[in-house]
Order: sequence, then structure tokens, then C-alpha cells
Amino acid sequence: MLTAQAELKPKVKKFLEDKVELFIDGKFVPSVNGKTFETINPATEEVLALVSEAEEEDIDLAVKAARRAFEKGAWPELSAAERAHLIYKLADLIDENKEELAQLEALDNGKPYQVALEDDIPATVEHYRYYAGWATKILGQTTPISKDYLNYTRHEPIGVVGQIIPWNYPLVMSAWKMGAALATGCTIVLKPAEQTPLSLLYTAQLFKEAGFPDGVVNFVPGFGQTAGAAIVNHKDIEKVAFTGSTVTGKYIMRQAAETIKHVTLELGGKSPNIILEDADLSEAITGAFNGIMYNHGQNCSAGSRVFVHRSHYDQVVEELSKLANNVKLGAGMDKETEMGPLVSKKQQERVLGYIEKGKAEGARVAAGGEKAFEKGYFVQPTIFADVTDEMIIANEEIFGPVVAVLPFDTVEEVIERANNTPFGLAAGVWTENIKTGHNVANSLKAGTVWINDYNLEDAAAPFGGYKQSGIGREMGSYALDNYTEVKSVWVNLK
Ligand code: ADP
Repeated sequence: MLTAQAELKPKVKKFLEDKVELFIDGKFVPSVNGKTFETINPATEEVLALVSEAEEEDIDLAVKAARRAFEKGAWPELSAAERAHLIYKLADLIDENKEELAQLEALDNGKPYQVALEDDIPATVEHYRYYAGWATKILGQTTPISKDYLNYTRHEPIGVVGQIIPWNYPLVMSAWKMGAALATGCTIVLKPAEQTPLSLLYTAQLFKEAGFPDGVVNFVPGFGQTAGAAIVNHKDIEKVAFTGSTVTGKYIMRQAAETIKHVTLELGGKSPNIILEDADLSEAITGAFNGIMYNHGQNCSAGSRVFVHRSHYDQVVEELSKLANNVKLGAGMDKETEMGPLVSKKQQERVLGYIEKGKAEGARVAAGGEKAFEKGYFVQPTIFADVTDEMIIANEEIFGPVVAVLPFDTVEEVIERANNTPFGLAAGVWTENIKTGHNVANSLKAGTVWINDYNLEDAAAPFGGYKQSGIGREMGSYALDNYTEVKSVWVNLK
């Protein structure tokens, strides 16, 4: 299966051979208890590297470093423009190391190298550049009270923030979280997912090289219930930002109540992608396919329920199935690979479990439906036809390359069915009628709606969920509010 593997870059080889340590207060350090954990290549099931494992004591050290950096020293002394320059410099360094970072993403997460190189790394770079631009534009207001009083507001950085990210876009997720926090002047303790810590820890040296003062960013790889929970429970963290499963998000929200932490959550979805009767079918079919299969379906906004007008249903199922059958599965480092493995054995088992449930409920497997290869966590891209709204595969987030294709008859009906879910992250609608497109978009309860496209994202456009898909918005100017406190200052002019 493994053909034409790309050569590892010398810096990547060295990085993997060395110990991968925590990054606290500007230094690479082992964890206090000396523990390490293995990170696995999901295409080969081999150990890629040993990573120091942060637990409660390490989180505490990281928080103390972040607190020192926030309160005094170089960071609070910087002008907004100087802070911007550091972030721009970081973006340049990430760009200079794009091949190394894309290799680490391909190895650790499993996604194709070319996808990491052309999508993940540029998105990361642009995200930092976008927020570097904001550092000098975080404005307060002056309030017209009366001639005797001046009132103005300051948008101050909230303080030390804890950020917990998932494994589907390791570097992009870290940029989504850190861009706005750095622009506003916060300091950070960030925990990568235990499945994919490598690319983030590689960037630690780039933060140093860019000249960020010690303690401004601290990276603490480890597990959710130990390191993650220690961040959520720490008394000296003002805010926690989380991206991950809805189950963990609910836990975090409950725990954060203990210390009244500000919380933003970006959680799961079961996003509808609606192909109306008048859609441009060839565009809609490719869009629906990529809408679910991009990143192997490991995408919180994946269009996992494709609603198709009954007049096109058979054709859409057939063409989606053809596309699925033609996907070249393989290792992320294999040059011919179009779709890599899922990130872990646990995810592979979970996704295969949902496929079995779909079969047992009577949905028809039009393509895929099995694991692929003996080694590696591969799952065939799977198209389920004849799905009904009650089936588990039409309700629960699968987070893999599995789509439920459902027929509908009228626009009113499909809007109601699309909204009939506890989630509300994203949605798509395909139509040649501009009025219908806007009206459907207005009626869908989702944080993002794409008309005649899917999965578009940009640092300047907000992203987040309605209902149980989350709280708050990342990206765009909206994310700045997550990282600032508003102070109202009164001046007596009498
Ligand atoms: P998944 O099940 O797909 O791994 P999670 O939501 O559990 O999704 O994981 C997303 C991130 O949340 C990871 O960094 C993980 O370590 C972290 N995490 C998991 N459980 C907890 C928890 N109880 N407290 C804090 N963080 C957690």
C-alpha cells in the first residue's frame, strides 16, 4: 500500500528523533513526573515520537509562567504595533517551515501531505497575519454622558487563557485559538490533542525565534482528563476556549462554572447540505462529496446529511458512489494519496461501529462500508442511501467519511428536517435561484451557511455554532471579544 513515500526533511527527522518536550516559559522541559506518551502514525500504526506528558503540576507551572508574562516584563510593555510585528514574524517563520510542518501533519494526523501544504499551513499563516492586523485596531468607545463627565471604555486583554484543541486540524486549530488571544495581548496555555501534538510543538521554536517573550505561549501536550481538566479547573485561568466533542464541551462548561471562567465552545455538528430541484447538479454533487469527505469527514462542519430533491435522488446517489469508489486511499506521505487514514484506532472503530448501525437499521450501502487495508486506520468513503430521519446515522455525529443521503419533496419540508437536530454548526444549499438561496439560508439554524459551495473558511469570516454546536464565534472581528474585558472609566470634569 505504501508507495512513493516522500523523503522526510532533515529538520523533521531530527525533531522526531529528539525528545518532544513541553514548552513552558520559553524553555523545552520534561514533565514534572517524567512521563511520556507515544504518538502514532495512523497510516502504519508505528510510533512516531515520544512526547512528554503534562499533568496537573505542569499545567500549574505553565499557568504561573503565563501569569508572570501577562503581568510584567516585556509583553505588557510592548506597543500594539510591536505585538503585531511579532505575530507577522511568526507567520513568516511558519511559512518558511511549511514543508516541515506539512510533513508533520501528514505523519501525525494522516492527512495527505499536499493537502496540509496547500490548505492547512497557508490557512495557519493567513490566520496569524489577519490577527496581527487587528492588534492595532482594538478600539474602545467614548460615551456621551454630559458636559461634566467623560466616560470611555478600554478593551483590555482578559488575562491568562487556556485553550484546548482537537486533532483534525492540529495547526489550524492552534492558530484559530492563538491569533485573537495574541492580538489582544493575552498569554496562553494551550493543550494540543494527545493524538496530534507534533506540529504545534515544532512551532514552539518558531515562537522563540520570532521573539515572543518567555511565558507568552506555553504548550502542554497531554490527555484530556488530566492535562485538559487541569486547565479547565485552574483558578488562575480567566478564560477557556475549547474545540472538540459536544460531550467534552458540556463537561467543560459545567466545570468552568466553579471558577466563573469565560467559556467559548466550538463543538460537533450534523450539518445538512441541501440540493434543491433547480441546483446545478454537477457542481452540487462534487460540492456535496467534498463537503463530507474533506479531511476524511473528520470535520466539525462536515455536510453529513445530504438532502436531495426526489427528482435527482437516484442520480445523486449514483454519482456520489462513483466518486467514493474512485478515491485513492493511502498514507499521508504517499504522493498518490487522496484520502488518508482516520486519526486513531478509536476513531476507526467508532466510525465502523456507525457503519454497522446504518446497515442494521436498513440503510443501503451504495459505496464503501468497510475498513480498508490490514494496517492503518483506514475506512472506505461510504455512501448510505435510503436513509430516513429516525436512523442513528442521520442523527449522531460520525466524524468520518460516511454520508447519509436523504430524499425530500418540498423546500418547506427540507428546511424543517434540516433544522430538526440539536446541532447548528453549518449548512449548505444548492440552487440556481438567488432568492431561494438567501431565503433558505435565512431559515437554517446554523452558524455558517454556504450557498452553492461548502467548507469555505477565511480568517476574516466568523465561525461557530447555534444550539449544541457551541457558544461564541471564532475568527473575524468577533473572536476579539472572546479575549477582551471591557472597562468603563469615568472622569469627573467638574
Ligand atoms: P475526541 O473524543 O474526538 O478526541 P474530545 O472532545 O474528547 O474529542 O477531545 C478534544 C480535546 O479535548 C483534546 O485535546 C482532548 O484531550 C481534550 N479533552 C478531552 N476530555 C477532556 C476533559 N475532560 N477536560 C478537558 N479537555 C478534555
